[in-house]
Amino acid sequence: MIRVPPRRGGWLEVVCGPMFSGKSEEMIRRLRRAEIAGQRVLLFKPRIDDRYDLADVVSHAGVRMSAVAVDGCAELVARARGCDVVGIDEAQFFESSIVDAALALADGGLRVIAAGLDQDFRRLPFGPMPELLARAELVDKLQAVCHRCGGPATTTQRLVDGRPAPYDGETIVVGALDSYEARCRDCHSAGQDSAAWMAA
Ligand SMILES: [Zn+2]
Repeated sequence: MIRVPPRRGGWLEVVCGPMFSGKSEEMIRRLRRAEIAGQRVLLFKPRIDDRYDLADVVSHAGVRMSAVAVDGCAELVARARGCDVVGIDEAQFFESSIVDAALALADGGLRVIAAGLDQDFRRLPFGPMPELLARAELVDKLQAVCHRCGGPATTTQRLVDGRPAPYDGETIVVGALDSYEARCRDCHSAGQDSAAWMAA
């Protein structure tokens, strides 16, 4: 597999996967490399996420980087002026206009790195992520380790009081580490009747 970013102009790359797959670590690793090369780098995140620190993006492994919390895409684009590289963490929490915002920045010559959950706890495409994935030049889908069987995990299981969350529960619950697990397809309880398709 050959993965070559463009030599000139901007582009969009997406890092996705379930929780605990190292998306924020990978984002920070890429931005640090760019910083070392002397590029002007800025990391953004939606203001909704105040899990650890309002001013930082912190991975579950504890790797951190200063970030600008923004209320929306217009603020993000305005503050990205003068940057060479822009990171957008927790991209799934932005409104749908993040797609146009990211493309506008890329068209304007910036390297844009968006990281986020590709699927919600029901395994459904999460917010603007499907379109970001479709329109990106480069995509990396990271895997975590399944909390149950140790296999490669591509989904996030939401647990309420230790039990799989109902399918019609709230999608966005920011916070507690112990209410989510990374799981493989076989171990994920999607809470929907996939079996109906197989019974026909
Ligand atoms: Zn498993």
